[in-house]
Amino acid sequence: MAESTFPAISSFDAVVIGAGPVGLACALEAQRRGLRVCVVDKGALVNSLVGYPTNMEFFSTPELLEIGGYPFPTAHYKPLREDALDYYRRVAVGENLTLRLYERVLALEGGPGAYEVVTEKGRLGCRYVIVATGFFDVPNRLNVPGEELPHVSYYYKEPYAHVGQDVVVVGAKNSAAKAALQLVRAGARVTLLVRGAAISESVKYWIRPDLINRIAEGRIRALFNTTIQRIDAEAVQVLTPDGPLTVPAHFVYALTGYHPDYRLLTALGIDTRPDAAHTPWHNEETFETNRPGVYVAGTVCGGLNTSRWFIENGRYHAAVIAAHLAGAVAPALPAIQQAVVLSA
Ligand SMILES: Cc1cc2nc3c(=O)[nH]c(=O)nc-3n(C[C@H](O)[C@H](O)[C@H](O)COP(=O)(O)OP(=O)(O)OC[C@H]3O[C@@H](n4cnc5c(N)ncnc54)[C@H](O)[C@@H]3O)c2cc1C
Repeated sequence: MAESTFPAISSFDAVVIGAGPVGLACALEAQRRGLRVCVVDKGALVNSLVGYPTNMEFFSTPELLEIGGYPFPTAHYKPLREDALDYYRRVAVGENLTLRLYERVLALEGGPGAYEVVTEKGRLGCRYVIVATGFFDVPNRLNVPGEELPHVSYYYKEPYAHVGQDVVVVGAKNSAAKAALQLVRAGARVTLLVRGAAISESVKYWIRPDLINRIAEGRIRALFNTTIQRIDAEAVQVLTPDGPLTVPAHFVYALTGYHPDYRLLTALGIDTRPDAAHTPWHNEETFETNRPGVYVAGTVCGGLNTSRWFIENGRYHAAVIAAHLAGAVAPALPAIQQAVVLSA
């Protein structure tokens, strides 16, 4: 790969937006192809994982989360969040990646061969851009009055602040199920609000029966076919099949999923397909978007279908994109089952 020649404030061959697992995989694969690469993230290294619950157990076994051929040794069958944080840091250090952390990307200017990534701190010149911005920054909002109150959160961390408190958990998938179980075991009084008629079938097979049994024995109160009308300072007003109800709530966790930052994608000039998932426009084989030389990688590729691509399968985008940048034949994506991971 030839050296980049165009002038810019900070000049690279490729800028990767997002220092998540897939962004890091993209950076190291491109760097191994001889490109000068910079990874820029609005937050910390693997910022999404930093935001996951304390001691969260991944659904994937460690070898399925590995990038760049670095072994991921853990003492557990399923790695914890903390294991993964340590692992990806070691990979980033081991590959000597150029990182610009706590620097939000705002826009993309220029054109093919001479882009400028505009950040809140400056401009990064480059020929190629890889957008690996995931989905964890924009929660699916409840859109009810009171959701902006300080005791309402879309991110659950740990249960210990809620001993002896009334906690409402909204949602019926993995994150909501795990949070409700943890909270009740830590001494909170938990009410689970579920829009549908049952706990989602997609909840992992080792979590679902645990939750259903705790509901059956009355330790967790679950209200199905229930919609939220309003959130007050110490209660949630809901509509159940039996009529309106006031549910006490010192804290509310709305664990109803997340979606990609479409405002950012628009600011980067990436079109959205008119499909149900609002997929960012990209070539399915190369991951190049409608802007030549600009690629998407990882979870963001699935649009609203955030379980289409996750670490296990999204990490393979890196080798494909790096090969395309270098004009080489891209490796085939392994056939990994879709929706192995349902995060919300
Ligand atoms: C609770 C939970 C458990 C999960 N368990 C598993 C599992 O077991 N196995 C698995 O394979 N997957 C799992 N997933 C999914 C997996 O974590 C994500 O699919 C994965 O993080 C996607 O990686 P990514 O690099 O595409 O995006 P992310 O890891 O989300 O990284 C995106 C990065 O982009 C940055 N960014 C966003 N906007 C900007 C901007 N404007 N400027 C600069 N930077 C920006 C963010 O700060 C972030 O660091 C889980 C998800 C959750 C929520």
